[in-house]
Amino acid sequence: MLSVNVGTLLQQESGSKKIVAIDDVVENGNDRFLVKGTVRLCKTNRFIVAEADLVATSELTCMRCLNKFISTFTVKFTDEFYTKDNLIVMAREGNREDDLEDFFTVDGRNILDLSEAIRQYAIMSEPLKPICTENCDPLRQR
Ligand SMILES: [Zn+2]
Repeated sequence: MLSVNVGTLLQQESGSKKIVAIDDVVENGNDRFLVKGTVRLCKTNRFIVAEADLVATSELTCMRCLNKFISTFTVKFTDEFYTKDNLIVMAREGNREDDLEDFFTVDGRNILDLSEAIRQYAIMSEPLKPICTENCDPLRQR
C-alpha cells in the first residue's frame, strides 16, 4: 500500500509506530519497479520518519550484451515526511521556502504517499552497471 492514512498516527504520542506492508508497482517513465517489503513509520514531534526495507524487481538492460533481464536489488532508506503544520513551524524557524519544497509531505487528508520516495530511492539503488549474468560475454555468444 503506497498511500497510507496517518491520521491516527499523527494523533498519537511521539515514538508511536505504524508498519506498512508494501507489495506494489512504482513507475518511472518507461521503468517499472515491483517493490516488496515493509516501511516503518515513526511519529516524532517534528515529522514522520519512514524507514523502508524493500526489495525491488525491475527489467534492466545488460550493459554488455544489451539484452533485457530481470534484476532484483534492495532499496533501503530513511526519510522524513512533513505535515503542513510541521512545515509552518519550520518556516517560522527561519527555513527558506525553497528548502521546504524538497521535503516529502503528508497531504491535507493525512495521506502519506510513499510512491515518490520509493521511486526516487529505487532509481538510486539500481545497479550502476547492470549485467545479466556474472560471466556475460557478448563476444562468445555468437
Ligand atoms: Zn548480458
